Amino acid sequence: MLADKDRIFTNLYGMHDRSLAGARSRGQWDDTKGIVARGRDAIIEEMKTSGLRGRGGAGFPTGLKWSFMPKESDGRPHYLVVNADESEPGTCKDREIMRHDPHTLIEGCLIASFCMGANACYIYIRGEYIREREALQAAIDECYDAGLLGANAAQTGWDFDLYLVHGAGAYICGEETALLESLEGKKGMPRMKPPFPAGAGLYGCPTTVNNVESIAVVPTILRRGGEWFAGFGRKNNTGTKLFAISGHVNEPCVVEEAMSIPFEELIDKHCGGIRGGWDNLKAVIPGGSSVPLLPADTAREAIMDFDWLRERQSGLGTAAVIVMDQSTDVIKAIWRLSKFYKHESCGQCTPCREGTGWMMRVMDRLVQGDAEPAEIDMLLDVTKQVEGHTICALGDAAAWPIQGLIRHFRDEIEERIAHKRRRPVPFAAE
Ligand code: NAD
Ligand code: SF4
Repeated sequence: MLADKDRIFTNLYGMHDRSLAGARSRGQWDDTKGIVARGRDAIIEEMKTSGLRGRGGAGFPTGLKWSFMPKESDGRPHYLVVNADESEPGTCKDREIMRHDPHTLIEGCLIASFCMGANACYIYIRGEYIREREALQAAIDECYDAGLLGANAAQTGWDFDLYLVHGAGAYICGEETALLESLEGKKGMPRMKPPFPAGAGLYGCPTTVNNVESIAVVPTILRRGGEWFAGFGRKNNTGTKLFAISGHVNEPCVVEEAMSIPFEELIDKHCGGIRGGWDNLKAVIPGGSSVPLLPADTAREAIMDFDWLRERQSGLGTAAVIVMDQSTDVIKAIWRLSKFYKHESCGQCTPCREGTGWMMRVMDRLVQGDAEPAEIDMLLDVTKQVEGHTICALGDAAAWPIQGLIRHFRDEIEERIAHKRRRPVPFAAE
Protein backbone atom coordinates (compact mmCIF):
# COMPACT_ATOMS: atom_id res chain seq x y z
CA MET A 1 0.00 0.00 0.00
CA LEU A 2 1.27 3.46 -0.92
CA ALA A 3 2.64 5.32 2.12
CA ASP A 4 1.13 8.73 2.91
CA LYS A 5 4.53 10.37 2.35
CA ASP A 6 4.48 9.15 -1.25
CA ARG A 7 1.08 10.54 -2.17
CA ILE A 8 1.13 13.33 -4.72
CA PHE A 9 -2.47 14.37 -4.06
CA THR A 10 -2.34 15.37 -0.43
CA ASN A 11 -5.83 16.87 -0.38
CA LEU A 12 -7.72 14.36 -2.53
CA TYR A 13 -10.55 14.12 -0.03
CA GLY A 14 -10.84 17.84 0.66
CA MET A 15 -9.85 17.42 4.31
CA HIS A 16 -7.44 20.35 4.18
CA ASP A 17 -7.36 23.92 2.94
CA ARG A 18 -7.49 23.93 -0.87
CA SER A 19 -6.57 27.61 -1.15
CA LEU A 20 -3.15 28.83 -2.26
CA ALA A 21 -2.04 29.19 1.37
CA GLY A 22 -3.07 25.60 2.07
CA ALA A 23 -1.42 24.33 -1.10
CA ARG A 24 1.81 26.13 -0.20
CA SER A 25 1.76 24.62 3.28
CA ARG A 26 1.75 21.19 1.57
CA GLY A 27 4.79 22.03 -0.58
CA GLN A 28 3.13 23.16 -3.78
CA TRP A 29 4.53 26.21 -5.62
CA ASP A 30 7.83 25.66 -3.81
CA ASP A 31 10.65 27.06 -5.96
CA THR A 32 8.72 26.76 -9.23
CA LYS A 33 11.24 29.28 -10.56
CA GLY A 34 14.08 26.84 -9.84
CA ILE A 35 12.29 24.02 -11.69
CA VAL A 36 11.72 26.18 -14.75
CA ALA A 37 15.35 27.36 -14.63
CA ARG A 38 16.49 23.80 -15.35
CA GLY A 39 15.39 24.36 -18.95
CA ARG A 40 13.18 22.54 -21.41
CA ASP A 41 15.45 19.68 -22.38
CA ALA A 42 16.27 18.79 -18.77
CA ILE A 43 12.59 18.83 -17.80
CA ILE A 44 11.61 16.60 -20.71
CA GLU A 45 14.43 14.18 -19.86
CA GLU A 46 13.23 14.01 -16.26
CA MET A 47 9.70 13.28 -17.45
CA LYS A 48 11.01 10.51 -19.66
CA THR A 49 12.94 9.08 -16.70
CA SER A 50 9.73 9.03 -14.67
CA GLY A 51 8.10 6.75 -17.24
CA LEU A 52 4.83 8.67 -16.86
CA ARG A 53 2.25 7.42 -19.35
CA GLY A 54 -0.78 9.57 -20.11
CA ARG A 55 -3.47 9.27 -17.47
CA GLY A 56 -6.42 10.06 -19.77
CA GLY A 57 -6.76 6.45 -20.86
CA ALA A 58 -4.45 5.79 -23.79
CA GLY A 59 -1.21 5.61 -21.78
CA PHE A 60 0.99 7.36 -24.36
CA PRO A 61 4.40 8.31 -22.82
CA THR A 62 4.12 11.92 -21.66
CA GLY A 63 7.80 12.92 -22.03
CA LEU A 64 7.82 11.54 -25.58
CA LYS A 65 4.65 13.47 -26.44
CA TRP A 66 6.20 16.68 -25.15
CA SER A 67 9.30 16.09 -27.25
CA PHE A 68 7.16 16.18 -30.43
CA MET A 69 6.61 19.92 -29.97
CA PRO A 70 8.83 22.05 -32.24
CA LYS A 71 11.81 23.40 -30.29
CA GLU A 72 11.76 26.74 -32.07
CA SER A 73 8.79 28.85 -33.03
CA ASP A 74 8.10 29.31 -36.74
CA GLY A 75 5.99 32.35 -35.89
CA ARG A 76 2.94 30.34 -34.80
CA PRO A 77 2.11 30.37 -31.09
CA HIS A 78 2.36 27.10 -29.17
CA TYR A 79 -0.40 25.88 -26.87
CA LEU A 80 -0.94 23.47 -24.01
CA VAL A 81 -4.50 22.19 -23.74
CA VAL A 82 -5.59 20.29 -20.66
CA ASN A 83 -8.33 17.76 -21.22
CA ALA A 84 -10.64 18.04 -18.20
CA ASP A 85 -13.66 16.74 -20.09
CA GLU A 86 -13.73 13.62 -17.94
CA SER A 87 -16.79 11.83 -19.34
CA GLU A 88 -15.87 8.17 -19.53
CA PRO A 89 -18.56 6.28 -17.59
CA GLY A 90 -17.20 5.31 -14.18
CA THR A 91 -14.43 7.92 -14.26
CA CYS A 92 -14.32 10.66 -11.63
CA LYS A 93 -10.65 11.04 -10.64
CA ASP A 94 -9.84 14.37 -12.32
CA ARG A 95 -12.93 15.78 -10.64
CA GLU A 96 -11.32 15.23 -7.23
CA ILE A 97 -8.10 16.96 -8.29
CA MET A 98 -9.94 20.02 -9.57
CA ARG A 99 -12.25 20.20 -6.56
CA HIS A 100 -9.75 19.67 -3.80
CA ASP A 101 -6.17 19.97 -5.08
CA PRO A 102 -6.41 22.52 -7.93
CA HIS A 103 -2.95 24.02 -7.38
CA THR A 104 -1.26 20.75 -8.38
CA LEU A 105 -2.85 21.24 -11.80
CA ILE A 106 -2.21 24.98 -12.14
CA GLU A 107 1.46 24.71 -11.22
CA GLY A 108 1.75 21.77 -13.62
CA CYS A 109 0.20 23.90 -16.38
CA LEU A 110 2.83 26.60 -15.92
CA ILE A 111 5.78 24.19 -15.94
CA ALA A 112 4.48 22.10 -18.86
CA SER A 113 3.58 25.19 -20.90
CA PHE A 114 7.05 26.65 -20.38
CA CYS A 115 8.47 23.34 -21.50
CA MET A 116 6.44 23.41 -24.69
CA GLY A 117 7.07 27.05 -25.45
CA ALA A 118 3.42 27.91 -24.79
CA ASN A 119 2.48 31.27 -23.34
CA ALA A 120 -1.17 30.22 -23.11
CA CYS A 121 -2.92 27.14 -21.80
CA TYR A 122 -6.58 26.22 -22.05
CA ILE A 123 -8.24 23.88 -19.58
CA TYR A 124 -11.36 22.42 -21.22
CA ILE A 125 -13.65 21.28 -18.42
CA ARG A 126 -16.65 18.98 -18.71
CA GLY A 127 -20.00 20.77 -18.97
CA GLU A 128 -21.46 19.01 -15.92
CA TYR A 129 -18.53 19.97 -13.67
CA ILE A 130 -19.95 23.18 -12.20
CA ARG A 131 -18.44 23.03 -8.69
CA GLU A 132 -15.12 21.92 -10.11
CA ARG A 133 -15.07 24.87 -12.50
CA GLU A 134 -15.81 27.24 -9.64
CA ALA A 135 -13.05 25.76 -7.45
CA LEU A 136 -10.54 25.83 -10.28
CA GLN A 137 -11.43 29.37 -11.36
CA ALA A 138 -11.09 30.57 -7.75
CA ALA A 139 -7.64 28.99 -7.58
CA ILE A 140 -6.64 30.54 -10.94
CA ASP A 141 -7.79 33.97 -9.71
CA GLU A 142 -5.73 33.54 -6.54
CA CYS A 143 -2.68 32.71 -8.64
CA TYR A 144 -3.09 35.82 -10.79
CA ASP A 145 -3.38 37.93 -7.62
CA ALA A 146 -0.21 36.32 -6.23
CA GLY A 147 1.80 36.81 -9.44
CA LEU A 148 1.99 33.07 -10.12
CA LEU A 149 0.20 33.54 -13.44
CA GLY A 150 0.40 36.39 -15.93
CA ALA A 151 3.53 38.34 -16.88
CA ASN A 152 6.72 36.82 -15.45
CA ALA A 153 4.63 34.05 -13.87
CA ALA A 154 6.03 32.92 -10.50
CA GLN A 155 9.14 35.00 -11.31
CA THR A 156 10.18 32.44 -13.89
CA GLY A 157 10.66 35.04 -16.59
CA TRP A 158 7.90 33.28 -18.56
CA ASP A 159 4.69 35.13 -19.46
CA PHE A 160 1.83 32.75 -19.03
CA ASP A 161 -1.97 32.95 -19.20
CA LEU A 162 -4.34 30.21 -18.14
CA TYR A 163 -7.92 30.05 -19.41
CA LEU A 164 -10.72 27.82 -18.18
CA VAL A 165 -13.27 26.89 -20.86
CA HIS A 166 -16.51 25.13 -20.03
CA GLY A 167 -17.72 22.35 -22.36
CA ALA A 168 -21.38 21.71 -23.05
CA GLY A 169 -21.75 18.05 -22.12
CA ALA A 170 -20.83 16.09 -25.27
CA TYR A 171 -18.78 12.94 -24.57
CA ILE A 172 -17.03 13.21 -27.92
CA CYS A 173 -15.49 16.55 -26.90
CA GLY A 174 -13.16 14.53 -24.66
CA GLU A 175 -11.50 13.16 -27.81
CA GLU A 176 -8.53 15.48 -28.20
CA THR A 177 -9.18 16.74 -31.73
CA ALA A 178 -12.94 17.14 -31.17
CA LEU A 179 -11.97 19.11 -28.07
CA LEU A 180 -9.78 21.39 -30.19
CA GLU A 181 -12.64 21.92 -32.66
CA SER A 182 -14.94 22.81 -29.77
CA LEU A 183 -12.36 25.22 -28.33
CA GLU A 184 -12.26 26.91 -31.73
CA GLY A 185 -16.02 27.42 -31.46
CA LYS A 186 -16.97 24.67 -33.88
CA LYS A 187 -19.03 21.52 -33.56
CA GLY A 188 -17.06 18.89 -31.61
CA MET A 189 -16.10 16.44 -34.35
CA PRO A 190 -12.81 14.51 -34.32
CA ARG A 191 -10.18 15.29 -36.95
CA MET A 192 -8.24 12.73 -38.91
CA LYS A 193 -4.78 12.02 -37.39
CA PRO A 194 -2.09 12.60 -38.57
CA PRO A 195 -1.42 15.42 -38.35
CA PHE A 196 -1.16 15.03 -34.58
CA PRO A 197 -1.75 18.14 -32.48
CA ALA A 198 1.98 18.80 -32.02
CA GLY A 199 2.15 19.54 -35.76
CA ALA A 200 -1.23 21.21 -36.22
CA GLY A 201 -3.46 21.57 -33.16
CA LEU A 202 -5.40 24.51 -31.78
CA TYR A 203 -5.97 27.10 -34.56
CA GLY A 204 -3.54 25.03 -36.65
CA CYS A 205 -0.69 25.73 -34.21
CA PRO A 206 1.63 23.30 -32.38
CA THR A 207 -0.34 22.00 -29.41
CA THR A 208 0.01 19.38 -26.75
CA VAL A 209 -3.15 17.92 -25.24
CA ASN A 210 -2.72 16.26 -21.85
CA ASN A 211 -5.09 14.87 -19.24
CA VAL A 212 -5.57 16.65 -15.87
CA GLU A 213 -3.85 13.95 -13.81
CA SER A 214 -0.91 13.80 -16.25
CA ILE A 215 -0.25 17.51 -15.76
CA ALA A 216 -1.03 17.60 -12.04
CA VAL A 217 1.70 15.06 -11.20
CA VAL A 218 4.39 17.01 -13.08
CA PRO A 219 5.50 19.42 -10.28
CA THR A 220 5.96 16.58 -7.78
CA ILE A 221 7.86 14.44 -10.29
CA LEU A 222 10.21 17.35 -10.94
CA ARG A 223 10.66 18.08 -7.22
CA ARG A 224 11.21 14.50 -6.14
CA GLY A 225 12.80 13.22 -9.33
CA GLY A 226 11.86 10.96 -12.22
CA GLU A 227 13.64 8.03 -10.52
CA TRP A 228 11.43 8.43 -7.46
CA PHE A 229 8.27 8.22 -9.57
CA ALA A 230 9.64 5.33 -11.59
CA GLY A 231 10.21 3.45 -8.32
CA PHE A 232 6.50 2.66 -8.06
CA GLY A 233 4.86 -0.02 -10.18
CA ARG A 234 6.93 -2.03 -12.63
CA LYS A 235 8.83 -1.55 -15.87
CA ASN A 236 6.84 0.41 -18.45
CA ASN A 237 4.03 0.85 -15.90
CA THR A 238 5.41 3.27 -13.36
CA GLY A 239 4.31 5.82 -10.83
CA THR A 240 1.39 6.46 -8.59
CA LYS A 241 -2.09 6.44 -10.08
CA LEU A 242 -5.59 7.52 -9.16
CA PHE A 243 -8.14 4.69 -9.21
CA ALA A 244 -11.87 5.44 -9.15
CA ILE A 245 -13.67 2.38 -7.80
CA SER A 246 -17.44 2.08 -8.08
CA GLY A 247 -20.13 -0.56 -8.15
CA HIS A 248 -20.57 -3.48 -5.79
CA VAL A 249 -17.82 -2.83 -3.28
CA ASN A 250 -18.53 -1.95 0.32
CA GLU A 251 -16.96 1.52 0.13
CA PRO A 252 -16.57 3.03 -3.35
CA CYS A 253 -13.78 5.60 -3.50
CA VAL A 254 -11.14 7.44 -5.48
CA VAL A 255 -7.67 6.57 -4.20
CA GLU A 256 -4.05 7.18 -5.15
CA GLU A 257 -2.07 3.96 -5.21
CA ALA A 258 1.08 2.54 -6.73
CA MET A 259 0.66 1.46 -10.34
CA SER A 260 0.54 -2.35 -10.71
CA ILE A 261 -1.23 -2.88 -7.39
CA PRO A 262 -3.01 -6.27 -7.37
CA PHE A 263 -6.77 -5.88 -7.85
CA GLU A 264 -7.61 -7.83 -4.68
CA GLU A 265 -5.34 -5.61 -2.59
CA LEU A 266 -6.87 -2.46 -4.10
CA ILE A 267 -10.39 -3.59 -3.22
CA ASP A 268 -9.63 -5.03 0.21
CA LYS A 269 -7.44 -2.16 1.44
CA HIS A 270 -9.50 0.74 0.14
CA CYS A 271 -13.06 -0.45 -0.47
CA GLY A 272 -13.69 -2.86 2.42
CA GLY A 273 -13.97 -5.78 -0.02
CA ILE A 274 -16.66 -6.95 -2.44
CA ARG A 275 -20.29 -6.63 -1.37
CA GLY A 276 -21.22 -10.08 -0.06
CA GLY A 277 -17.61 -11.33 -0.13
CA TRP A 278 -15.18 -12.34 -2.86
CA ASP A 279 -17.26 -15.36 -3.93
CA ASN A 280 -19.99 -12.91 -4.87
CA LEU A 281 -17.82 -11.21 -7.54
CA LYS A 282 -19.06 -11.70 -11.10
CA ALA A 283 -17.17 -9.30 -13.39
CA VAL A 284 -15.04 -6.16 -13.42
CA ILE A 285 -14.57 -3.39 -15.93
CA PRO A 286 -11.04 -2.33 -14.91
CA GLY A 287 -10.60 0.94 -16.81
CA GLY A 288 -13.77 2.82 -17.66
CA SER A 289 -16.50 1.82 -20.07
CA SER A 290 -14.28 1.68 -23.17
CA VAL A 291 -12.35 -1.41 -22.08
CA PRO A 292 -13.68 -4.97 -22.12
CA LEU A 293 -14.83 -6.48 -18.85
CA LEU A 294 -13.05 -9.35 -17.12
CA PRO A 295 -14.70 -12.35 -15.46
CA ALA A 296 -14.21 -12.83 -11.70
CA ASP A 297 -11.39 -15.38 -11.87
CA THR A 298 -9.21 -13.22 -14.15
CA ALA A 299 -10.06 -10.06 -12.22
CA ARG A 300 -8.97 -11.67 -8.95
CA GLU A 301 -5.50 -12.31 -10.42
CA ALA A 302 -5.28 -8.88 -12.02
CA ILE A 303 -2.29 -6.55 -11.76
CA MET A 304 -3.69 -3.09 -12.26
CA ASP A 305 -1.53 -1.64 -14.99
CA PHE A 306 -1.48 -0.96 -18.73
CA ASP A 307 0.44 -4.01 -19.88
CA TRP A 308 -1.03 -6.75 -17.66
CA LEU A 309 -4.58 -5.78 -18.55
CA ARG A 310 -3.84 -5.29 -22.25
CA GLU A 311 -2.33 -8.79 -22.39
CA ARG A 312 -5.71 -10.09 -21.10
CA GLN A 313 -7.60 -8.28 -23.88
CA SER A 314 -8.75 -5.54 -21.52
CA GLY A 315 -7.04 -2.31 -20.45
CA LEU A 316 -6.23 0.11 -17.64
CA GLY A 317 -7.91 2.96 -19.56
CA THR A 318 -8.86 5.68 -17.11
CA ALA A 319 -8.44 3.29 -14.13
CA ALA A 320 -12.16 3.59 -13.41
CA VAL A 321 -12.83 0.21 -11.83
CA ILE A 322 -16.47 -0.86 -12.09
CA VAL A 323 -17.21 -3.89 -9.92
CA MET A 324 -20.20 -6.15 -10.59
CA ASP A 325 -21.43 -8.80 -8.19
CA GLN A 326 -23.55 -11.89 -8.90
CA SER A 327 -26.75 -9.85 -8.81
CA THR A 328 -25.66 -8.04 -12.00
CA ASP A 329 -27.29 -8.67 -15.33
CA VAL A 330 -24.06 -8.32 -17.35
CA ILE A 331 -25.89 -8.44 -20.67
CA LYS A 332 -28.01 -5.51 -19.59
CA ALA A 333 -24.96 -3.65 -18.27
CA ILE A 334 -23.20 -3.88 -21.64
CA TRP A 335 -26.47 -3.13 -23.49
CA ARG A 336 -26.62 0.11 -21.50
CA LEU A 337 -23.11 1.02 -22.67
CA SER A 338 -24.12 0.27 -26.28
CA LYS A 339 -26.97 2.72 -25.91
CA PHE A 340 -24.55 5.31 -24.53
CA TYR A 341 -22.08 4.99 -27.42
CA LYS A 342 -24.84 5.12 -30.03
CA HIS A 343 -26.11 8.32 -28.44
CA GLU A 344 -22.65 9.90 -28.25
CA SER A 345 -21.40 9.01 -31.77
CA CYS A 346 -20.81 12.24 -33.68
CA GLY A 347 -21.98 10.45 -36.83
CA GLN A 348 -19.29 11.62 -39.26
CA CYS A 349 -17.95 8.16 -40.16
CA THR A 350 -20.18 5.38 -41.44
CA PRO A 351 -18.91 2.34 -39.45
CA CYS A 352 -19.47 4.21 -36.19
CA ARG A 353 -22.68 6.03 -37.10
CA GLU A 354 -24.34 2.91 -38.52
CA GLY A 355 -22.45 0.31 -36.50
CA THR A 356 -23.30 1.73 -33.08
CA GLY A 357 -26.98 1.64 -34.07
CA TRP A 358 -26.67 -1.93 -35.38
CA MET A 359 -24.88 -3.12 -32.27
CA MET A 360 -27.40 -1.47 -29.98
CA ARG A 361 -30.37 -2.96 -31.81
CA VAL A 362 -28.94 -6.48 -31.60
CA MET A 363 -28.12 -5.87 -27.92
CA ASP A 364 -31.76 -4.71 -27.47
CA ARG A 365 -32.84 -8.16 -28.56
CA LEU A 366 -30.15 -10.09 -26.70
CA VAL A 367 -31.01 -8.46 -23.42
CA GLN A 368 -34.55 -9.77 -23.89
CA GLY A 369 -33.35 -13.14 -25.16
CA ASP A 370 -35.34 -12.26 -28.26
CA ALA A 371 -32.75 -13.33 -30.84
CA GLU A 372 -31.51 -16.26 -32.86
CA PRO A 373 -28.39 -17.96 -31.41
CA ALA A 374 -26.62 -17.20 -34.72
CA GLU A 375 -26.98 -13.49 -34.02
CA ILE A 376 -24.30 -13.71 -31.34
CA ASP A 377 -21.64 -14.39 -33.97
CA MET A 378 -23.22 -11.89 -36.32
CA LEU A 379 -22.93 -9.22 -33.59
CA LEU A 380 -19.31 -10.20 -33.01
CA ASP A 381 -18.70 -9.80 -36.73
CA VAL A 382 -20.25 -6.32 -36.70
CA THR A 383 -17.96 -5.28 -33.83
CA LYS A 384 -14.96 -6.37 -35.94
CA GLN A 385 -16.22 -4.27 -38.86
CA VAL A 386 -16.39 -1.20 -36.61
CA GLU A 387 -13.15 -1.75 -34.65
CA GLY A 388 -10.19 -0.03 -36.26
CA HIS A 389 -12.26 1.40 -39.13
CA THR A 390 -13.24 4.76 -37.69
CA ILE A 391 -11.76 8.24 -37.38
CA CYS A 392 -11.53 8.20 -33.59
CA ALA A 393 -11.49 5.69 -30.74
CA LEU A 394 -15.23 5.94 -30.04
CA GLY A 395 -15.87 3.21 -32.61
CA ASP A 396 -13.45 0.87 -30.81
CA ALA A 397 -14.93 1.87 -27.47
CA ALA A 398 -18.39 0.85 -28.67
CA ALA A 399 -17.13 -2.47 -30.05
CA TRP A 400 -14.83 -3.69 -27.29
CA PRO A 401 -17.29 -4.02 -24.37
CA ILE A 402 -19.52 -6.22 -26.56
CA GLN A 403 -16.54 -8.34 -27.60
CA GLY A 404 -15.66 -8.79 -23.91
CA LEU A 405 -19.23 -9.79 -23.09
CA ILE A 406 -19.33 -12.44 -25.82
CA ARG A 407 -15.81 -13.66 -24.96
CA HIS A 408 -16.59 -14.24 -21.29
CA PHE A 409 -20.37 -14.54 -20.97
CA ARG A 410 -21.52 -16.23 -24.18
CA ASP A 411 -23.15 -19.00 -22.14
CA GLU A 412 -25.27 -16.44 -20.30
CA ILE A 413 -26.44 -14.93 -23.60
CA GLU A 414 -27.25 -18.37 -24.99
CA GLU A 415 -29.10 -19.31 -21.84
CA ARG A 416 -31.20 -16.16 -22.08
CA ILE A 417 -32.19 -16.98 -25.64
CA ALA A 418 -33.04 -20.54 -24.61
CA HIS A 419 -34.98 -19.26 -21.58
CA LYS A 420 -37.04 -16.97 -23.79
CA ARG A 421 -37.96 -19.87 -26.04
CA ARG A 422 -39.10 -21.91 -23.04
CA ARG A 423 -40.95 -18.96 -21.46
CA PRO A 424 -41.75 -16.13 -23.92
CA VAL A 425 -42.35 -13.25 -21.48
CA PRO A 426 -40.29 -10.04 -21.35
CA PHE A 427 -37.05 -10.63 -19.47
CA ALA A 428 -36.53 -7.15 -18.08
CA ALA A 429 -39.01 -4.41 -18.77
CA GLU A 430 -37.37 -1.16 -19.88
P1 NAD B 1 -4.53 7.53 -28.94
O1 NAD B 1 -3.76 6.31 -28.61
O2 NAD B 1 -4.95 7.75 -30.35
O3 NAD B 1 -3.66 8.82 -28.56
C1 NAD B 1 -3.15 9.03 -27.28
C2 NAD B 1 -2.32 10.28 -27.30
O4 NAD B 1 -1.06 10.03 -27.91
C3 NAD B 1 -2.93 11.44 -28.07
O5 NAD B 1 -2.62 12.65 -27.44
C4 NAD B 1 -2.25 11.38 -29.43
O6 NAD B 1 -2.18 12.62 -30.08
C5 NAD B 1 -0.87 10.87 -29.04
N1 NAD B 1 -0.28 10.05 -30.11
C6 NAD B 1 -0.60 8.78 -30.42
N2 NAD B 1 0.15 8.34 -31.43
C7 NAD B 1 0.96 9.38 -31.79
C8 NAD B 1 1.95 9.55 -32.79
N3 NAD B 1 2.27 8.56 -33.64
N4 NAD B 1 2.57 10.74 -32.88
C9 NAD B 1 2.25 11.74 -32.03
N5 NAD B 1 1.31 11.65 -31.04
C10 NAD B 1 0.69 10.47 -30.93
O7 NAD B 1 -5.78 7.53 -27.99
P2 NAD B 1 -6.99 8.57 -27.80
O8 NAD B 1 -7.98 8.37 -28.86
O9 NAD B 1 -6.44 9.94 -27.57
O10 NAD B 1 -7.59 8.07 -26.43
C11 NAD B 1 -8.27 6.84 -26.31
C12 NAD B 1 -8.45 6.54 -24.85
O11 NAD B 1 -9.14 7.58 -24.24
C13 NAD B 1 -9.23 5.28 -24.55
O12 NAD B 1 -8.33 4.24 -24.34
C14 NAD B 1 -10.02 5.62 -23.31
O13 NAD B 1 -9.53 4.91 -22.22
C15 NAD B 1 -9.75 7.07 -23.09
N6 NAD B 1 -10.95 7.87 -22.80
C16 NAD B 1 -10.90 8.64 -21.69
C17 NAD B 1 -11.99 9.41 -21.34
C18 NAD B 1 -11.95 10.21 -20.08
O14 NAD B 1 -13.01 10.64 -19.60
N7 NAD B 1 -10.77 10.45 -19.51
C19 NAD B 1 -13.12 9.42 -22.15
C20 NAD B 1 -13.13 8.63 -23.29
C21 NAD B 1 -12.04 7.84 -23.62
FE1 SF4 C 1 -17.53 10.42 -34.87
FE2 SF4 C 1 -17.76 7.85 -34.22
FE3 SF4 C 1 -16.30 8.56 -36.30
FE4 SF4 C 1 -15.45 9.12 -33.82
S1 SF4 C 1 -15.69 7.08 -34.68
S2 SF4 C 1 -15.41 10.46 -35.61
S3 SF4 C 1 -17.44 9.54 -32.83
S4 SF4 C 1 -18.53 8.85 -36.07
